[in-house]
Amino acid sequence: MEMDCIRTQATLSAVHDNESVTDENAEAARAHCEECGACRAFAAELRALDSLPAPQAPPELIDRVMVAVTAIAAERAEEIEAAAILEAPAVASAVAQASGPRFEWFSGAGRWKAYGALGAAAAAVLVVAFLVTRTPAPETASIHPAAGAEAGTLDLTFSNEAAKSAGAAAPMATPAPPRAPDYLTFRNRVYKPGSLLSDSTTATESIGTVTTAFSGAGAPTQVQSYRSPVTDGSIVVPGPDGSRLYEPVVRIFSSLKYQMVAGNAVDRFGQWPELPSRFPAPTSPDGSPTFVIAGGDMLGVQTHTAAGIPQTQGFAIAPGTPSTDPAGSNPNWTWWEPILIP
Ligand SMILES: [Zn+2]
Repeated sequence: MEMDCIRTQATLSAVHDNESVTDENAEAARAHCEECGACRAFAAELRALDSLPAPQAPPELIDRVMVAVTAIAAERAEEIEAAAILEAPAVASAVAQASGPRFEWFSGAGRWKAYGALGAAAAAVLVVAFLVTRTPAPETASIHPAAGAEAGTLDLTFSNEAAKSAGAAAPMATPAPPRAPDYLTFRNRVYKPGSLLSDSTTATESIGTVTTAFSGAGAPTQVQSYRSPVTDGSIVVPGPDGSRLYEPVVRIFSSLKYQMVAGNAVDRFGQWPELPSRFPAPTSPDGSPTFVIAGGDMLGVQTHTAAGIPQTQGFAIAPGTPSTDPAGSNPNWTWWEPILIP
């Protein structure tokens, strides 16, 4: 697989998962997809992974929107810290009218200009996509998968991502899943599976080992892991089905990304991360005596601090968040520290 394809697929994956990508990477990926069927197919696969029907928009509309998006992104680069925050309520409200549930997935942008610009841009596409795709029935998406593969894959994944994220604001009545997501840990940091990279030769620079049994029943083994082609904090881990991006499990606090830190091994899929052992498990729902209620993150989820640790260096989240929260429906308290780029 060529380097352009590797970079493009990493970018598509990052965009699909709402991770930060630069304007340059987004544009390069878009341009590359115009001439590379393999990467278009990869983008289509990403979209097919999602259970929700993906909205479809006419290719010529998508082209126009992408032009507008690029312009918006450039314009906003200087003022995005304010714009990302100011625009969030307005766009969220527009989407709420179009689709019902609220969403606030991109409101955490701010520190990263490209991320914020893409967030606002994605929101613009999203609103258009929702308005446009009210006309055809949702089934259209599965009847014409080729349309998504040929054009506008970035937009469609944005739209789909937002549709998924709309659930993030759902009431906490969501029943807890029986098992944790397919987490693994690297240097005690928690990661979740991202895209399967289409060629194992993407693994180049070793960054150490991950100990996991993946979904198997056997004993966990040490798996050589590699630097990600995108510097979004993800890592590349070769698994039973090939090399896969594993993405940091993050939440936004004060415009910065914080990654979940596990005290336990989490060396098999389906295990819930626990607090680092230096924190005794709180005995009260308010976090006491270990933690003190502090404030809220960008999703409005209550954060808690530990004595002697500034909130900017780490904070705790109570158990029982919705399954759509970055913490999932973890029955344990979780601890979050500033993201590291392996
Ligand atoms: Zn390609």
